[in-house]
Amino acid sequence: MMIHEQVIIGIDIGTTSTKAVVFGECGRVLASYAVDYPIIQPHPGFAEQDPEELFAAVIQAVGAVTIRHRIRPEQVKAIGLSAAMHSIMALDESGRPLTRLLIWADNRSVAQAERLLKENDGLDIYRRTGTPIHPMSPLPKLLWLKEKQPDVFRQARWFVSVKDYVLYRLYGDYIADHSLASATGLFRLDTLDWDEDVLSFLGISRERLPRLVPATYVLQGMKKEWADKMGVSADVPVVIGASDGVLANIGVGAVLPGEAAITIGTSGAVRTIAAAPTTDEKGRTFCYALTPGYWVVGGPTNNGGILLRWLRDEFGAQEREVAKKLGIDPYDLLTKYAERVAPGAEGLVFLPFLSGERAPYWNANARGTFFGLGLHHRREHLIRAVMEGVCFSIVSVALAIRDVTGPMTEIRVSGGFAKSPFWRQMLSDMLGKPLIVPQTHEASALGAAAVALHALGELPSLEMVKTWMDTTARHEPKEEHTLIYAELFDLYSRLYERLKEEFDIIAAFQRQGG
Ligand code: ADP
Repeated sequence: MMIHEQVIIGIDIGTTSTKAVVFGECGRVLASYAVDYPIIQPHPGFAEQDPEELFAAVIQAVGAVTIRHRIRPEQVKAIGLSAAMHSIMALDESGRPLTRLLIWADNRSVAQAERLLKENDGLDIYRRTGTPIHPMSPLPKLLWLKEKQPDVFRQARWFVSVKDYVLYRLYGDYIADHSLASATGLFRLDTLDWDEDVLSFLGISRERLPRLVPATYVLQGMKKEWADKMGVSADVPVVIGASDGVLANIGVGAVLPGEAAITIGTSGAVRTIAAAPTTDEKGRTFCYALTPGYWVVGGPTNNGGILLRWLRDEFGAQEREVAKKLGIDPYDLLTKYAERVAPGAEGLVFLPFLSGERAPYWNANARGTFFGLGLHHRREHLIRAVMEGVCFSIVSVALAIRDVTGPMTEIRVSGGFAKSPFWRQMLSDMLGKPLIVPQTHEASALGAAAVALHALGELPSLEMVKTWMDTTARHEPKEEHTLIYAELFDLYSRLYERLKEEFDIIAAFQRQGG
């Protein structure tokens, strides 16, 4: 399809792919192109990506979308950038990578994170920087590098994130946006600047980090070679944008203080907008920057839709076969079975911590648990309990956020789970709150495009993004279900507390290969 109108291109540099999404008026998606890349795991617990491959994916994704849709350079009003949080890599004096990108999923720095919390002022660092002390964060990763690869650490002239690296290749300049910087554990929320105490603790000076700029910062004068390959003008305004998590909030229309976005894809997250930086006394939630008046407070959970995928793949051979014959999605069959069972799965509670847990417990040793199993339970009870367990975990994050920022005024849901009206209703019942399902597609890229338009002065306020999207469905909580879930949620929370020490034991046993 040929595109004739003026467009904004949102580039979303994610964990599995980079997408270039072409938006027309009012955030309408006109075209998109994704380039995939792998996660490299040279050792258990490591998760790396090749920076060259990611840079090439950016060029290729934009190049493909402009060629396929014959978009001329003068049609591209601006490009907005979104990128995954928490990546870090080392570069030498001439900008050559000394390491691959260590991404959020990399757990090599478990010991460093634990030490930061126990021996150093980890909770204080979190309160200043908004990033929980966890191996996902660049701070413990840099500490790991300093301890385990001191030569590389010393040699490194620059420490940068994936977006900083892409921008360096495009412009030859080292810059970082406030939003991604606020997810490094090295950035002070109150001064919007690198945290000198953390830097001196790490033993690096600010000269080894990129220059900080706001999300609305505009770059121009791209190296011609890359502009040509992408089919855009070297002078096209490129707006640096923010992190994917923060931009996804804008992209689903959760834009005013108190408005929340709940996403359940493979993992899950609850994020709400706050007008000022806000952290949690107990360290349960993150706080990341968008613009000085826009902050995102939230919590990620490891255990989202991946659990239904696990059920489907490990125990759902029968459903997969039936679904294939009927020509339907096996997930739809699994959720149909679950629907036959009453809320509470006749007294079966599932703790969904198959991949350990981040918010609100931040406990890598937590494990999955079925509690209350009886002979009356059939497979549909187990499916329902698993779906409920995922929702319990989301509720526990939402409650932690409520303690920090106050009640949520509006909740918008997205991600693979939102394909199931039944699962959405379950979440609404459990939260005891209405849910809105916005019609969105590529929320982070849309957020990036909105920030780009805002930076150009063409979108007076980010709130206007709300008017760009229709609501496809709305759920009202059913009170009788809310009451049942409230009772079971108490049990769920108590079970976690009671099992905390036992989780450490079973996790240690598993680590020994037991
Ligand atoms: P990703 O995080 O990889 O982007 P998605 O947003 O595609 O993931 O979500 C994938 C998850 O969404 C699946 O693992 C599954 O749990 C859930 N899901 C996808 N389709 C359905 C469906 N039709 N019904 C219920 N859940 C679904």
